[in-house]
Amino acid sequence: MTTISANLQAVTARIASACKAVGRAPQSVQLLAVSKTWPAEDVRSAAACGQHAFGENYVQEGVDKIAALAEHGLEWHFIGPLQSNKTRLVAEHFAWVHALDRLKIAERLSAQRPSNLPPLQVCVQVNVSGEASKSGVAPAETATLAHAVAALPRLKLRGLMAVPEADADEASLRAQFSLMRTLLEQLNGEGLQLDTLSMGMSHDLDIAIQEGATLVRIGTAIFGARNYQEP
Ligand SMILES: *Cc1c(COP(=O)(O)O)cnc(C)c1O
Repeated sequence: MTTISANLQAVTARIASACKAVGRAPQSVQLLAVSKTWPAEDVRSAAACGQHAFGENYVQEGVDKIAALAEHGLEWHFIGPLQSNKTRLVAEHFAWVHALDRLKIAERLSAQRPSNLPPLQVCVQVNVSGEASKSGVAPAETATLAHAVAALPRLKLRGLMAVPEADADEASLRAQFSLMRTLLEQLNGEGLQLDTLSMGMSHDLDIAIQEGATLVRIGTAIFGARNYQEP
């Protein structure tokens, strides 16, 4: 068994046990394998184990892998911050965008989504930790952006996404994840039909799932430690 295959099994077991702890069905959590910085061969190995959805942070790196792996029919999620001069490539090549935090970017993605593709699935990123350096909209501004994004014709708003404070303790992580769930429920109470809470990474997926995550974004625990400085 390859390392990637063993790691995928271990992550799947962690997801199952976090679900069990709070009485959720394991199928209620989707695993997104974050393949940024890893070569196409590693994605191929994970795909051979049945992994279907992959996340990328950098546009050109992602587009190159999508082209190299086209015959596998994989689902590609763009999870990094997106600048307006890169929206077209993302609209043309990805199925999902997770880190929307500006209406201008959403409008460009909607206008640039090719008509032969289904609507681009998107999440609004919320800055739950309140750190000034973090992207994402403030919790109090989430509803305004979410309703505006939901009205765009070629986007399908699926839910909310967050990256909590990296060194937060467990109680603080729980509070941040739980705020996300409250925000999602509020939006659904206002008539939106959102089914996705994109939250939880290698170190905190268990807590995220216990607090309601429906999609976890996992890189290190599947592919190993990345050999570069996060920008
Ligand atoms: C890199 C990244 C991940 C994966 O993080 P790991 O700690 O390696 O699991 C998840 N989400 C986002 C937005 C990322 O940039």
